Amino acid sequence: MQEWKDKQVLLVGMARSGVAAARLLHTLGAKLTINDAKERDAFEGALDFMDAWGVDWQLGQAPDRLIEGKDLIVFSSGVPFWSKWIQNARAMGIPCINELQLGFWMSKAPFVAITGTNGKTTTTTLTWQMFVNAHVQSFAVGNIGIPVCTHALEMRPDGVMVAEVAPFQLVSTLDFRPRVSAILNITEDHLNWFHTMENYIDKKCLVFAHQRGDDVCILNADNDITATLVNRPQCRVMLFSHQKEVAEGAFVRDGWMLLRIDGKETKICPVDSILIPGPHNLENAMVASLSAFLMGVSPEVIAHTLQTFKGVEHRIETVRTLHGVTYINDSKATNPDSTIKAIEAMKQPTVLILGGSDKKSDYMPMFRAFTPLIRDVVVVGETAEDIAACAKRAGLHCVHRAYSFEEALLMARDLATEGMNVLLSPACASYDFFDNFEQRGEVFKRLVWELK
Ligand code: ADP
Repeated sequence: MQEWKDKQVLLVGMARSGVAAARLLHTLGAKLTINDAKERDAFEGALDFMDAWGVDWQLGQAPDRLIEGKDLIVFSSGVPFWSKWIQNARAMGIPCINELQLGFWMSKAPFVAITGTNGKTTTTTLTWQMFVNAHVQSFAVGNIGIPVCTHALEMRPDGVMVAEVAPFQLVSTLDFRPRVSAILNITEDHLNWFHTMENYIDKKCLVFAHQRGDDVCILNADNDITATLVNRPQCRVMLFSHQKEVAEGAFVRDGWMLLRIDGKETKICPVDSILIPGPHNLENAMVASLSAFLMGVSPEVIAHTLQTFKGVEHRIETVRTLHGVTYINDSKATNPDSTIKAIEAMKQPTVLILGGSDKKSDYMPMFRAFTPLIRDVVVVGETAEDIAACAKRAGLHCVHRAYSFEEALLMARDLATEGMNVLLSPACASYDFFDNFEQRGEVFKRLVWELK
């Protein structure tokens, strides 16, 4: 599978991962046909550099007529994996893969692959940071935003690729075999893509489908669904739990995180010394620690990383403390479940800013999860009235209405007193005032820094 010189390759979908795959295949000397449903103009010059490669441009059309005679087809994640033309190409014996599979083939380094409904980016970044701190060549790639193909060819056998993988990527792999895989948790999500929960679970299980022998699959013993999967992998299975001790894997005893492998226990660090807050982040920390340890990182480096890693931007991110009030940006909380995680992570009395664009979520479970530490709520945005009405039904009377994002922050500031937090954890998408959750978080942080 490694020899692509002069082979005919069709690339379908020219977003970031398609471009990375094209670069890699061009480096290997493949003959490229470039296809996308969009016309050339729509790319505003972003693909022009490929002109020098002499590619066969086939833009602005469906790929159906282009599969004939190809040795390989690489299609981007945005292309529906059930498309008829993919089925046709496969029936003709042409390997049809995505960029993750291509990057896996081309990388000399083993992979750690992290999947799950929630916590992927945090855990991927934290695991990667452990390798970096241990001076191991490593990149955080995949669903996190950097295509695997960007770094595949430079990987050395002693490096480690840490890949965030989503089920819609796994369905388009052939023999993806990470050295260590982890499923953080499985809860209801993406049913618009996968229709049934069984199907969604099966697709997540593809992360370990090709693991064998001494490969390790890490599963969450505290999650109802992943706990039932322990007999499915055909490799070693290790568990993590913050509620009970596990035979092999990661757990908590007397306030310390411990790993137990082959009957040998290794103490990592006191749970209290882990910087990223909340029980959900303890789970992420356990998975990262176990993955790094299995790949040879020392307990000292793992502990040091846990005690210095501040988390990923826009996820319970401390912005600043002003007049004794700490401002926290959790703009990534685009659904009530995520906001519940943030609420559980709060250790000080908190004013919570909620609201954004509408995903038709039920806010009642979130209000039920409120702890006495949530003192006031400021609602803003498209969903403000709905959230306020739901809060009222839940018996909450500390809800304040703001009419702009800035006003919401100023209101929260006025409500907070010394020793309190102001937490932006909207439980809603961001499209009412913003392009995406990143922009919402940036604006929040800028406004916080402008506070006098
Ligand atoms: P993903 O990449 O899977 O979307 P992130 O690391 O970006 O996950 O975290 C997104 C949100 O999911 C966080 O703001 C937090 O509320 C929640 N979260 C993070 N880790 C976990 C976990 N292990 N279990 C449940 N929820 C989590």
